[in-house]
Amino acid sequence: MESERRSAPRVITGVTLIDGTGRAPIADAALVIDGDRIAAAGARHAMSWPAHAAVIDLRGRTVLPGLIDAHDHLASHGYGFATRWGLDEPASTVHLRTARVLADTLAMGYTTVRDAGGLDAGFKLAIEQGLIPGPRLVLGLQIISPTGGIGDRTSPSGHDCCGAFDPLLPPSVANGPDQVRDVVRTMVRAGADVIKTATTGGASSRPGHGPRDAAFSSEEMQALVAESHALGRRVMCHALGGPGVRTAVRAGVDSIEHGTYLDEEPELMAEMAKRRVFLVPTLTVYVYHRESPAPHVRARAQALHEHHLATVRRALELGVPIAAGTDAGGHGHPRNALELGYLVEAGLTRMQAVQAATQWAAQCLGLDGELGTLEAGRLADLIVVDGNPLEDVKVLLEPRRIEMVFKGGAVCVDRRADAPAA
Ligand SMILES: [Zn+2]
Repeated sequence: MESERRSAPRVITGVTLIDGTGRAPIADAALVIDGDRIAAAGARHAMSWPAHAAVIDLRGRTVLPGLIDAHDHLASHGYGFATRWGLDEPASTVHLRTARVLADTLAMGYTTVRDAGGLDAGFKLAIEQGLIPGPRLVLGLQIISPTGGIGDRTSPSGHDCCGAFDPLLPPSVANGPDQVRDVVRTMVRAGADVIKTATTGGASSRPGHGPRDAAFSSEEMQALVAESHALGRRVMCHALGGPGVRTAVRAGVDSIEHGTYLDEEPELMAEMAKRRVFLVPTLTVYVYHRESPAPHVRARAQALHEHHLATVRRALELGVPIAAGTDAGGHGHPRNALELGYLVEAGLTRMQAVQAATQWAAQCLGLDGELGTLEAGRLADLIVVDGNPLEDVKVLLEPRRIEMVFKGGAVCVDRRADAPAA
């Protein structure tokens, strides 16, 4: 009978519980996992569980929700042209490299990742079918932009990429509201969970299309947002500053990615706070770009740095919701928790940095009913840490300290010395 086959609840006891909601941590807590969900979490003395429950004593450890990266590029392995275009090794090797990144990212406690472009839906299926380990995935597939925008991969010499067209990563250049609607629909057909677009250049985009240079008209963006929302998809928009970031917010996007020059747009930020448009600052990628071998990338990243920090401070003051994202890809993997340290340097408390990578990130992805906090009814995505990130968020960068990773109640990683060998 089903009820007899169902495994006994598991109870983690003795831990310090950081539940992701921002509530003060609970010392000597217990957490009951029933199947793939959390049945209860709180102070141990106030809880009870069935006698046949399997109790795991993890005294001295900290338990927090599985981490979420709201902006990653799991299939990107470098910024060099040949690597970006997949020319320097066979496609199968690139895919296996991506599979390794997925496994390593999960092993660092990241149980959910939103991919902002480059990862195709086959990886998500492979993880769901148990073929490879990896986080839960929310996929953007490709960056939608007009001709000349960051989704247009034409080279500075005017050449198009020589790689074969991949129907799993459909073309993402669209001009005019009709084409924009068509490309959104095509993206959704290919498995996009979120629509990724861009209304400005960035630090690493081609010379001539910089952080304050706009892409897409208001009409195009309104069409993109309306079509995405009609299909039940949120819109994450790469936008750094200038008129493009205004176009994006006013068209109704759900998150601004990077937002480095938002400090120049106080009214826009107030609007974001009011409408709960998320800011995903992705501080990590600019640390990388400040050292870029490309002079124009390095100069842009250095020029935006102070504005970026001012933007995060202003977001905190105004109550613009913030989610942690790295923009990793060719850097950062699997040390995605770097972002938490940078967020703290930018002015978040350590608790806020943890929330940015748990509850707030789940809200940004529209998954806060299922993920992001350790409360009864949520999926049992959680990590057991040797150390306390509220004392030092850098403990999350050390693999040996991420002792256990649970995804949907299943133990994916167990680094404890006495753990049964895998
Ligand atoms: Zn990105």
